Amino acid sequence: MAKRKTRQISIGGVTVGGGAPVRVQSMTNTDTSNTAATIEQILKLEKAGCEIVRVAVPDEVAAKAIKEIKKNISIPLIADIHFDHKLALLSLDSGADGLRLNPGNIGGKDRVREVARAANSRKAPIRIGVNSGSLEKDILQKYGHPTPEAMVESALRHIKLLEDEGFHDIKVSLKSSNVNSTIAAYEAFSKVSDYPLHLGITEAGTLFSGTIKSSVGIGVLLHMGIGSTLRVSLTADPVEEVRVAWEILKALEIRKRGINIISCPTCGRIRLNSEKIALEIEKRLSHVEEPVTVAVMGCVVNGPGEAKEADVAMAGGDGVALIYRSGEVVAKIKEDEIVERMVREVLSLVEERKAAKAV
Ligand code: SF4
Repeated sequence: MAKRKTRQISIGGVTVGGGAPVRVQSMTNTDTSNTAATIEQILKLEKAGCEIVRVAVPDEVAAKAIKEIKKNISIPLIADIHFDHKLALLSLDSGADGLRLNPGNIGGKDRVREVARAANSRKAPIRIGVNSGSLEKDILQKYGHPTPEAMVESALRHIKLLEDEGFHDIKVSLKSSNVNSTIAAYEAFSKVSDYPLHLGITEAGTLFSGTIKSSVGIGVLLHMGIGSTLRVSLTADPVEEVRVAWEILKALEIRKRGINIISCPTCGRIRLNSEKIALEIEKRLSHVEEPVTVAVMGCVVNGPGEAKEADVAMAGGDGVALIYRSGEVVAKIKEDEIVERMVREVLSLVEERKAAKAV
């Protein structure tokens, strides 16, 4: 998987593009002016592994609230602005680390200049977010539909407005709710520009269908080496967006974090409840940040093979299981003790690794 080369930008000290790790983003769904609720949600997102957070800024109260929010969080914050350049200026004054704003929609060159200057003086990048649902009228007329080519043209037009002001700290997204169009748009754009790209399938849907659409669309693009940041858009708790984003990155072995569960689908050979065991282990170890591969295998057909590759593993038998650590059998225990033992093995492995790192 060769990564396509892009420029590098920095959002509040977090590098994006140009060889930096693919960053996980999410967006709060609290009322931004409710600072307590927004801070609480961002802290949960941070804990789940979110590296950059975006908040909606629909009015002045929200723009001013950024000041208080910033004091209480550790990750960079991006202000999401539509149409109103004053809100962009106010958000930057409040300490926003970046803006999501389409310069073609804020009412003319003077306003673009004002925003570009303010963003430049605060070293705050701007993400241009092209969305298939809100393309410019003339571009839509030209192409008839929000085609990938239309989305690329729109992005280039917004980019030019910023470049004309000497502003190049730009990130771009070209989101469509259609997976194929999204892939085509990002691919076409990355052939004509080296600005870093923020990936996402917009309005992807609920937890189940949105996870699938996002995983397919974002996964294909990442496999092509395209993408510097990503957001999984879900009609769900944003913490789920972060969890899914990490699973996508882990599945493609682009980044590592937390527990990587390998579990068999079970079949007629199963003689214990390995579904319950796998779910329980996943839940009990969801706080672990250290990358650990855990295999939960129903029987000895594939169990020992997977166990050899995993850090901690089990291979089920009739109401019992063999427990493996680094490929070696360390115990044979009864079904009702499996979860406890597996969790203990993983946590002690994490401690050992931490201690080894500290030396
Ligand atoms: Fe069936 Fe055993 Fe394979 Fe699980 S590991 S699917 S129980 S054969």
